[in-house]
Amino acid sequence: MAVATSVTLDSPVTALGISIKPGYRAGLQKMGIRTIRDLLLELPYDWEEFGRSSPVAWLQPGEQATVTGTVTGIRLAFSRNRRRYLDASVQDDHGGVLRVLWFNKPWLQRELAGKRVVLAGTVKGRPQHPEMVNPDHELAGPEPKRRVGGLMPKYHLSADMTNKKMAELVTAALPLADQFEETLPEGVRSRHRLMSLVEAVRAGHAADRASDWAEARRRFQFEELLELQLAFLLLRSEFAHERATTVPYRQEVIDAFKAGLGFQLTNAQRRATWDIFQDLQKDAPMNRLLNGDVGAGKTAVAAAAVAMVHAAELQSVVMAPTEILARQHLHKFRAYLEESFPDLKVELLVSGQPAAERRRVLTAAASGHCALLVGTHALIEGEVQLARLGLAVVDEQHRFGTRQRELLREKAGAGRPHFLAMTATPIPRSLALAVYGEMALSVIDELPPGRTPVRTRVVTAAGRERAYQLVRDEVAAGRQAFVICPLIEESEKLEVTAAVAEYERLQREVFPNLKLALVHGRLKEKDAVMEDFRAGRSQVLVATPVIEVGVDVPNASVMLVEGAERFGLAQLHQFRGRVGRGGAQSYCLLFAGDDASDKAVARLHLLEGEHDGFKLAHEDMRLRGAGELLGAKQHGLTDEAMRGLEQPTLLSEIRQEAEGILAGDAALAGHPALRAAVARRLELTSLS
Ligand code: ADP
Ligand code: MG
Repeated sequence: MAVATSVTLDSPVTALGISIKPGYRAGLQKMGIRTIRDLLLELPYDWEEFGRSSPVAWLQPGEQATVTGTVTGIRLAFSRNRRRYLDASVQDDHGGVLRVLWFNKPWLQRELAGKRVVLAGTVKGRPQHPEMVNPDHELAGPEPKRRVGGLMPKYHLSADMTNKKMAELVTAALPLADQFEETLPEGVRSRHRLMSLVEAVRAGHAADRASDWAEARRRFQFEELLELQLAFLLLRSEFAHERATTVPYRQEVIDAFKAGLGFQLTNAQRRATWDIFQDLQKDAPMNRLLNGDVGAGKTAVAAAAVAMVHAAELQSVVMAPTEILARQHLHKFRAYLEESFPDLKVELLVSGQPAAERRRVLTAAASGHCALLVGTHALIEGEVQLARLGLAVVDEQHRFGTRQRELLREKAGAGRPHFLAMTATPIPRSLALAVYGEMALSVIDELPPGRTPVRTRVVTAAGRERAYQLVRDEVAAGRQAFVICPLIEESEKLEVTAAVAEYERLQREVFPNLKLALVHGRLKEKDAVMEDFRAGRSQVLVATPVIEVGVDVPNASVMLVEGAERFGLAQLHQFRGRVGRGGAQSYCLLFAGDDASDKAVARLHLLEGEHDGFKLAHEDMRLRGAGELLGAKQHGLTDEAMRGLEQPTLLSEIRQEAEGILAGDAALAGHPALRAAVARRLELTSLS
């Protein structure tokens, strides 16, 4: 279909004139695709080879193959660890039968029963009994399908979108590719032998040769990383021009702080504290990332900063991602500060408070009487006013966007507040610099002394009952356990359904005598359930993987993770950090799914012997890539750019180019297309 001539790259995707069902619209929205420009800049990450169909009898395990046949049977089955899947038989025209398993796609049962299909995937099973697991499929019509026999692009999709629909939209949009204005300066392109943007968009979606596609991706990777570096440099110079109130260093404050702490700061905590004090003395706002393992004691470092800021007669805010965490922070900061600094008033602001209490807190904040206000994001979004804000601390979130900075400034009276972020995941230094390059970095790479390592075991199907018995024994001894349900990235809804089913199964069949509770992202009374667990009113907490990071339940001694192979090592290490917080010996039990590969299980075994979060993060990066480590959704970078982050030489070349461009043109005035691209990226990163 021809697209109307008035349509531009900035028109919405709907302007292509292709019908887009509401489900697909939601899918596009989740993928961040609004305009045709967004659509064309979303490249496939791979291509599925729908080669010529092979007879089932010829299939060899390990090869990539296409099979055409009829779905003669398809039924719902349960794996040993109770995951639901579809078990199907597909008969080809020569009488061969292929077994096909589909996980997490229950709807295919009705869609495919009795139908003739084309399947593409990797052959598994044994030579006489070939299988495919989660192959791509198309219904085979009487005439050959458009993309079968050619190449089917694979996009990073949200659950509501399909590769086929994406391909259809992209095909319609591709004639508009000529409208793209070149973003990269000529010199940069020729020095690094990069395709033009127009060429790269075309080759990225419809390459004639694999090598063209690779070149297109190389160009996009370069551009993305360059824009990111430019964005960091621009942000850094912007911050350098802002004015903050200086916080002088006072030895008596740190002495009093240490005296009231009840323990000695580790060397790593001391170094980080010192970094922060030096930043606070400057009149440009601090912008620092505190990167440390679970339990490394980041809160104490933040508390030291709060004490120093208070001594300078300025206020602080601490923001936590959830209400539960905010309450825990309230207790911790009070415990660290109250004794040595009796006039340092710490208050809590969360949405669930009685109105009178809320008014009291707001008044205390506005009058300057309250020195530290702890709360959720509502802190910067609500009607909060602070008399003299000097420091903002954000926990379990890396970045603070420009919008949030603006909101803070509006609340803050005079000057920009200093800013400190604390990470939930240890990130290798090189990666942190590449992805959070606008921030200075402090690393706490040492745990407080006297921690007993959490005993960690990979559990096979045979060991399952023993593992459950351990949970019963621990509960009998007065302790508690977490059960993390499998990650189902494709759909939060399925994830919740699976968690509910697992909770019911555990309560009915495994722990009939224990008090179980369930928490998932869609639960309204989440906080109440967590609070009950913390207070010991439930014994086993079944949770989807969204379980609140950082929650402190010192009495919990068992962390059991289902489908552990689906998580990165760093994330499993995070889960493990939820136990071992009290004095008791704690356990982390990693259940691998039935369809886990030997390699994935071997990776899990690394956790048995390694307790250093930074080392595990390094392994994750080596084995699964930087994207896995950072959580693909958070940072808005493509996988391709993520792979670039693992190449130090490329990164330093790109950084040089970025510096070179800004040296000649500090505001990118001579590079409007590049400036627009960087601006788009700034908005992306600052919202994360
Ligand atoms: P995280 O870095 O994960 O936020 P926390 O700040 O919650 O870690 O600290 C974890 C626990 O360790 C807390 O109970 C805290 O009081 C304790 N802690 C922190 N620093 C030290 C230290 N230097 N010595 C002993 N215990 C410490
Ligand atoms: Mg913490």
